[in-house]
Amino acid sequence: MRLVFATNNAHKLEEVRQILGDRFKVLSLNDINCHEDIPETGDTFQDNALQKARFIKEHYGYDCFADDTGLEVKALNGAPGVHSARYAGDHDSEANMTKLLHELEKKTDRSAQFRTVVALILNGQEVLFEGIVTGQIATERHYGDGGFGYDPVFVPDGYTETFSQMSSEGKNLISHRGRAVRKLADYLRQL
Ligand code: IMP
Repeated sequence: MRLVFATNNAHKLEEVRQILGDRFKVLSLNDINCHEDIPETGDTFQDNALQKARFIKEHYGYDCFADDTGLEVKALNGAPGVHSARYAGDHDSEANMTKLLHELEKKTDRSAQFRTVVALILNGQEVLFEGIVTGQIATERHYGDGGFGYDPVFVPDGYTETFSQMSSEGKNLISHRGRAVRKLADYLRQL
């Protein structure tokens, strides 16, 4: 089965292709010659994921799925949340992490969660899948070979390494996106 994933984020593509395996051929926005900025103006992950998927269906005609992800920090009342990409600027992960570590400097509770909502449009139906992983924000960045975004400061519960220090398989097994995309895969398999 061929499905468009409404992203050009190479990290997300790799993660999702790894999870969905050979049974599904995942096409990126580049693959369908979509090079425009897709609007993401919703107030929730659900709104944004649906907005992206609907945009591709309406403008390019493809059945597709889109994800919207954010980091929700308890001591910051759920911020950066839907504003995760532009927390400190425009899609600047280093600046975002600097701001986050600064905001948490005087906080004792460093608990947080990543949340992903995947919106699928297939055969005229819209279906949503959610994945959450809870963890702690480290006091400084810990880089490894993998990951992106806020991964260098996120330590999932039950682990001592950040997502950035884990293998992509290790991150996928427990991550927000891994959980949401496995629900998507289960749904597609039972069609
Ligand atoms: P979006 O889903 O592409 O809009 O991502 C929102 C923000 O969350 C961006 O700053 C991403 O870098 C960040 N982000 C999304 N997924 C992950 C992840 O798996 N790990 C760390 N940061 C992520």
